[in-house]
Amino acid sequence: MNILVTGGAGFIGINLIKYLIKKKHKILIVDKITYASNHDELKILIKNKNVILKKIDVCDYNKIYKAICDFKPKKIMHLAAESHVDRSIKSSKIFLKTNIIGTYTMLFAALNYYNNLPLKNNSSFLFHHISTDEVYGDLSLKDRSFSEENKYFPSSPYSASKASADHFVRAWFRTYGLPVIITNCSNNYGPYQHKEKIIPLIINNALQGKKVPIYGNGKQIRDWLHVSDHVRALYDVLFKGVIGSTYNIGANNELENIKLVTLICGYLDKKVKDKPKNIKSFSELITFVKDRPGHDVRYAINSRKIKKELKWKPKISFKIGLSLTIDWYLDQLCGKKL
Ligand code: NAD
Repeated sequence: MNILVTGGAGFIGINLIKYLIKKKHKILIVDKITYASNHDELKILIKNKNVILKKIDVCDYNKIYKAICDFKPKKIMHLAAESHVDRSIKSSKIFLKTNIIGTYTMLFAALNYYNNLPLKNNSSFLFHHISTDEVYGDLSLKDRSFSEENKYFPSSPYSASKASADHFVRAWFRTYGLPVIITNCSNNYGPYQHKEKIIPLIINNALQGKKVPIYGNGKQIRDWLHVSDHVRALYDVLFKGVIGSTYNIGANNELENIKLVTLICGYLDKKVKDKPKNIKSFSELITFVKDRPGHDVRYAINSRKIKKELKWKPKISFKIGLSLTIDWYLDQLCGKKL
């Protein structure tokens, strides 16, 4: 089946493309190839005869529409986004452009394509919008985890832009009848993540003997899901999800940031023989820094719906997933030097 994936060169995108290749689909990656793309892995992926790459900005209607018409996808998975909260606080405009106008452009092009499909070909068409739990805002320690019924209270320019995009996707379903599904997922971790994100950042800094920064008091709670479990959930939604629905995706792995950093440092202590000269334990590098403005306190996701309706469940425990992930980054960063 032909599947068009926007943002296929990013962290989740690369993991998703690998999965889709295994499932024998024909894939068109549409990506602007920003700083966040994984160039090395992309070069390998496009050697596969079932993968095509088009370097296109999702805000460019003409190119997007042509790419869709030429490729004739049955499914569009829209992942392309600016995704880093800190960057969105420093310069929000590109987040509004890519995440809102880009999603609007994708919807507009997808609808025009869908409306021109012969009836017999349009029954399995789907626009799958990949979003985040951050649209719901944050929770206090006492609150129940986010369900699909929670109202949107985004805190950062990033989450506000994703929330806005989600609203457009729903509007295109309700007003124009475009077959859509939205998924809202918790924090992903795993291989191929950009080094500005917390887990690769900690590992990278620690190995170089640099400070391992942690915002505020480090008590912020994130709900972690291994990227391979997310990719399987996306695939299940793509083929079994109910049109017009939203599915929350998470694995009930709530953890304070300080605990995450401490776990990683402890694991590195065991694994890395040659520590940087200035330290005996990597935890000595943990440094509390001024908190991020508007920092969400707690995310926690209730994924009962996808578990019940689509029989999806996460397979990778956080303990195993984290050690596999650290091993992967160690291999990338130090290779045989360990
Ligand atoms: P990422 O930043 O690693 O990758 C994003 C990709 O989108 C990059 O390859 C980038 O080049 C591309 N892109 C950016 N602007 C573009 C544009 N204008 N046109 C075309 N391509 C463009 O992001 P990620 O972590 O892989 O996240 C993918 C999606 O999943 C995003 O929509 C994000 O909001 C969502 N999400 C991520 C997480 C997470 O923990 N990483 C959790 C939930 C949801």
